[in-house]
Amino acid sequence: MSVLDTKIEFAKGVGTKRADLLKTELNLHTFRDVLEYYPFRHEDRTELHKAKNLLESMTVAQLKGKILYTSLVGEGAKQRLVATFSDGTGEVDLVWFHGINGIQKFIKSQTEYLIYGQPQFFNGKFSFIHPEMELYQEEGSSIGLLYPVYNTTEKLKRSYVNSKALSKVVQAVLEKCVTQLPETLSDELRAEFELLPRPDAVRCIHFPPNVGMLAKAKKRLKFEELFFIQLQLVRQKRLKQQTFHGMVCRDTKLFTDFFENHLPFELTDAQKRVLKEIYTDMASGKQMNRLLQGDVGSGKTIVAFMAMLIAVGNGAQACLMAPTEILADQHYRSLEPLATAMGLQIDLLTGSTRTRVRRVMHQRLENGNLHLLVGTHALLEDKVQFENLGLCIIDEQHRFGVEQRSRLWTKNEQHYPHILVMTATPIPRTLAMTLYGDLDVSVIDQLPAGRKPIVTAHRYDAHRLRVFGFIKEQIAAGRQAYIVYPLIEESEKLDYKNLMDGYESVCRAFPGMGISIVHGQMGAPEKEYEMQRFVKGETKIMVATTVIEVGVNVPNASVMVIENAERFGLAQLHQLRGRVGRGAEQSYCILMTKDKLSQDGKIRIDTMVRTTNGFEIADVDLQLRGPGDLMGKQQSGTVDLIIADLAQDGELLQQARTAAIALLEHDPQLQRPQNAPIRNQLNELARHKSFWSRIS
Ligand code: ADP
Ligand code: MG
Repeated sequence: MSVLDTKIEFAKGVGTKRADLLKTELNLHTFRDVLEYYPFRHEDRTELHKAKNLLESMTVAQLKGKILYTSLVGEGAKQRLVATFSDGTGEVDLVWFHGINGIQKFIKSQTEYLIYGQPQFFNGKFSFIHPEMELYQEEGSSIGLLYPVYNTTEKLKRSYVNSKALSKVVQAVLEKCVTQLPETLSDELRAEFELLPRPDAVRCIHFPPNVGMLAKAKKRLKFEELFFIQLQLVRQKRLKQQTFHGMVCRDTKLFTDFFENHLPFELTDAQKRVLKEIYTDMASGKQMNRLLQGDVGSGKTIVAFMAMLIAVGNGAQACLMAPTEILADQHYRSLEPLATAMGLQIDLLTGSTRTRVRRVMHQRLENGNLHLLVGTHALLEDKVQFENLGLCIIDEQHRFGVEQRSRLWTKNEQHYPHILVMTATPIPRTLAMTLYGDLDVSVIDQLPAGRKPIVTAHRYDAHRLRVFGFIKEQIAAGRQAYIVYPLIEESEKLDYKNLMDGYESVCRAFPGMGISIVHGQMGAPEKEYEMQRFVKGETKIMVATTVIEVGVNVPNASVMVIENAERFGLAQLHQLRGRVGRGAEQSYCILMTKDKLSQDGKIRIDTMVRTTNGFEIADVDLQLRGPGDLMGKQQSGTVDLIIADLAQDGELLQQARTAAIALLEHDPQLQRPQNAPIRNQLNELARHKSFWSRIS
């Protein structure tokens, strides 16, 4: 057992009571935990200010000087101790309301102190209320130091374990055992990326001698964190590729026939590139595990169909799974004519497929007469068995879990079906590398030619009449419009009232016009009926909550008005805007907001007005919300980082991933002696993982 595993109660200044608190509040159990409890920022004590140069705008200042005299001012509860402090350039007041006795004992005349706090200006003088104060010592004084600031909790603070107390514990533990911390990276990696040795980095992340060393310490520890995540992901991916064989799909006759004779339009370069990537995977003999990202309208459907042709052209079957019936239905409708043109059998299987129809379908799947199957989760049922499933396409990954992905594999016993995951929710590259690090990623980053970009405008609520006027013009020109209202769970009742008020005012503003309304409290048949009226053009305006976010496809709709747009997140705004711009006509998105916007709200609206590029929008979203929020609670665990930040450290992440790939390329089993530190750390991480999974 290493000294690093020593229990925290044995640290200097930590008794059993404090130890218990540190365990329950901060999950700190051992010396190692303490060393790895990094400060979240540092107070800069490298600068010494002069009393005569203090400004009201300063948030903190540090002075070095002597106390000239003290006096007690006021009576009873309002009594305070005021010390007049001079640094030779001017005088300031130091003021204490509590702990006056202790301070009086501590203060000596003719002694130099460092004081640190926020200067406040009143009565023609600067004062420091309850400043931090310590004796100035030439040797080892605060000057030239960056003070670590640690997260603590209210409970800890009540027991006097504040950031400063914690820093003393860290200091004591550091002195005892920081040199015992094992190195986790090879000398080669450290040399290549100019990384500090681990003990030095840990020492400097707590108590950096200067800003430069702090930056170096951070870089080393961030790299390490990202590197081991990537190493694990890349290893999993390599393992999968070695163990899981996919069907070899080399024959391109059917694919080429479609490409040359049936393609309804010229593919974009991006579509061609992605198809090449898919073909290379499917022909390789290894299982394809690929994520296909492409903005709304970038043309993923045709790519999906052509991937299916690769499978079917090699004697296999293919399926496409969507998260909702509406979406499955839509996919079916767009694929059906293509399949029929190629003489292929295609069918649709959802929760509402009749048992009798199902039975026939099951039969045709099992004897191989049905080539393509589109559907919902219903595809996952055990009864659904294929003769020879070669490719499975999953649309809208974020609604299915990884687990469901793997359930599809059991659908073919000779080999694993190739997996293509499609998503229209652009994920910033850094996030994709971490969340889908075990998948290959293809991106369609180009819209079909001739598409008119959607014009987006921001309008304040006061201008609603003008917006309605614009909608009237569009309807007169034969178009249709959406008006969307937010519906947030916490304020559901209010939101409904808001929606119904909005609906009534729309009815008043457009008398005699067909208006649909769709919201979550309606039953499915009712909803479907209203949707269909809008799809058929019987109604001109659709008033709705965000239920229309995915799936509705009405090319004739050219206006999307989003009410209370400041309340939507960027991803949602982008999805909603994607509902228009699907036809040949110029489309418009109008973001309605109240007058006063929060800082973030303003950035969101400005971003939407500035760009239609989903990846750019996703990047802004990542900066605003951080990776955890972006992926939703359920997946954030994957990106719970201690020190690295996916919004800031994209470049370092790329380096870490490249390094991980290169390492496993050269030394797949990590057997070389120089890589022993890396292997040991991987084992250590695996040990901890199983420990936590056992107790949770
Ligand atoms: P998404 O990526 O949102 O699923 P779709 O596949 O539904 O996009 O394509 C949107 C529209 O663009 C469809 O009507 C489709 O037929 C059309 N489309 C796709 N690719 C091209 C292309 N290369 N040229 C012209 N139109 C295309
Ligand atoms: Mg689509």
